[in-house]
Amino acid sequence: MHALSNADLHCHSKVSDGTLEPEAVATRAHANGVELWALTDHDEVGGQARALAAAGRLGMHYLTGCEISVTFAGRVVHIVGLGFDHEDAALVQGLRETRGGRGERAREMAEGLAKVGIKDAYEGALKYVGNPELISRTHFARFLVDAGHCQDVPDVFRRFLTEGKPGFVPHRWARLADAVRWVTQAGGVAVIAHPGRYDFTPTEEYALITEFMAHGGRGIEVVTGSHTAAEAAKYTETALEFGLLASRGSDFHSPDESHTDLGKLPALSGRLTPVWDALRERIIPPPH
Ligand code: AMP
Ligand code: MN
Ligand code: MN
Ligand code: MN
Repeated sequence: MHALSNADLHCHSKVSDGTLEPEAVATRAHANGVELWALTDHDEVGGQARALAAAGRLGMHYLTGCEISVTFAGRVVHIVGLGFDHEDAALVQGLRETRGGRGERAREMAEGLAKVGIKDAYEGALKYVGNPELISRTHFARFLVDAGHCQDVPDVFRRFLTEGKPGFVPHRWARLADAVRWVTQAGGVAVIAHPGRYDFTPTEEYALITEFMAHGGRGIEVVTGSHTAAEAAKYTETALEFGLLASRGSDFHSPDESHTDLGKLPALSGRLTPVWDALRERIIPPPH
């Protein structure tokens, strides 16, 4: 196998809160030059078999993936799992439990929005949902934009869906220890997603990284769609300081919303060890 230089190991399909089917995400990744791909839907591995098959048809190498919602220190942290057995029973059950409660939360979100005059948001959001177990804030955001309440998705989050805003409902997600264990015991590597997006103090961030590593977590996203160049530089140093494997992924959700397209990312610094080097045995090559 030649060196896989364009890896995109973070993106979403309709199986969670993306707008494209897994096959269409694969096609777009391939068209953009991605050689090693992972579909990482939120809290769900139901799209893995389709993604893997599509990658194979297109000649792309594939790593299984998912992005797990975790509650850490009262905040939401995302953990990307890569290269695991997507049929592992403990992983599948853990993710099922993590998805649980989304329906009830969505109804409460709609109640909050009704109080500020936005009617029938639950029914509205449902129309955008591809997976009934995975109704998310993103689906509400798309409904609010299309119904003319807001200009774009980030505008909805700012005005309605973040802490302290009328449509925000706090939720208890998976524990960090569990998320890391599900991925690791299924043969994969756990990665801290988009570390630059959390509002952690340096002390809190240090606690996250050290706890994550104590549970067996080994990687961190350095190059991602939501990092500035300065953040990528900062987390390059973090990865080196802690001896973490480095990951790269667009976090693509939709051709209309995502500011970073699949595969269109800067390269990882040559000083880093890419997470896919440590996952060589878990990479699924396309059939000949
Ligand atoms: P949920 O898991 O239902 O809390 O929804 C989280 C999802 O909302 C994330 O995976 C992102 O896709 C999206 N999201 C979160 N914050 C923002 C934001 N500020 N602007 C746009 N999308 C966001
Ligand atoms: Mn998302
Ligand atoms: Mn995320
Ligand atoms: Mn994501």
